Amino acid sequence: MDLSEIKNALNLDELEKLRIKYLGKNGLITSEFKKLKNLSEEERKKVAKELNELKEKAINLIQNKKTELEEKLLDEKMKLEKIDVSLYSPKNTGAIHPVTDTMNKIIEFFTRMNFSVETGPLVEDDFHNFEALNLPKYHPARDMQDTFYFNDGKLLRTHTSPVQIRTMEKQKPPIRMISPGAVFRRDYDLTHTPMFHQVEGLVVDEKGKVSFANLKFILESFLIHMFGDVKVRFRPSFFPFTEPSAEVDISCIFCGGEGCRVCSHTGWLEVLGCGVVDPNVFKAVGYENVSGYAFGLGVERFAMLINKINDLRSMYEGDIRLMEQFK
Ligand SMILES: [Zn+2]
Repeated sequence: MDLSEIKNALNLDELEKLRIKYLGKNGLITSEFKKLKNLSEEERKKVAKELNELKEKAINLIQNKKTELEEKLLDEKMKLEKIDVSLYSPKNTGAIHPVTDTMNKIIEFFTRMNFSVETGPLVEDDFHNFEALNLPKYHPARDMQDTFYFNDGKLLRTHTSPVQIRTMEKQKPPIRMISPGAVFRRDYDLTHTPMFHQVEGLVVDEKGKVSFANLKFILESFLIHMFGDVKVRFRPSFFPFTEPSAEVDISCIFCGGEGCRVCSHTGWLEVLGCGVVDPNVFKAVGYENVSGYAFGLGVERFAMLINKINDLRSMYEGDIRLMEQFK
């Protein structure tokens, strides 16, 4: 029996047909085994041995060919999916990441409003990240669940607020600043990633010169700059470092306030937090006879709303198909 056609099989389908032809239930080799019972005992021994050798040979040939064809298929697939990053393509010109783009728009607004842009370290100490912000030990916001700690007690900052403390430590009022940057929390789901970006703002001046009304004006103008023609409302809330505190909503940009899935049928989207700076914060940095306001927002939340992205994680997977949409 000539098995050479197995070696010449062009693909896995063809190979499977050959396997059935030789080794299937009614295959050529299988049929020969069935004929053994018609032979004399002496003949049967001899032929059975030959048939077993033939069967083993066929099995080996098929297995080897199968491995060869599978490797070839994988190779072809790899070649097809390979991205040559050095290849010039007018199609892949790159785009500004939606988070960077949103961050730039935010910074642009506040620098025009005469705010300075301040930065600080990503690895912080307990005092600047918590204590000075009126977050004493055992406060729930300090939960080990949320914070990445190092062995020496240092931590990855959980907000950009420590930059406000550091700025107040080295500057006398008046202060008019924003602190944009990356922050870190142990969280991962549709709307949370372990690293994300915040912009926080702080305005401090002599007592009486800064009021909640100033804060409202700045934030309303800011939200209209970012989202266009929206209504803005302030809701009483609680933050450890401000008193009074408020959460700020805009009318839903998806349904115009009618109510939809994104706004949980309330007609409003929560976009930032703010308030009048708690006196304890000023005490921690040695400021006296001042008043001020502060606000903070998540840049990813803004980027998701503006670009209508519903899974935050997709922004950090570097998928070229997603980024192509932001040219
Ligand atoms: Zn809505």
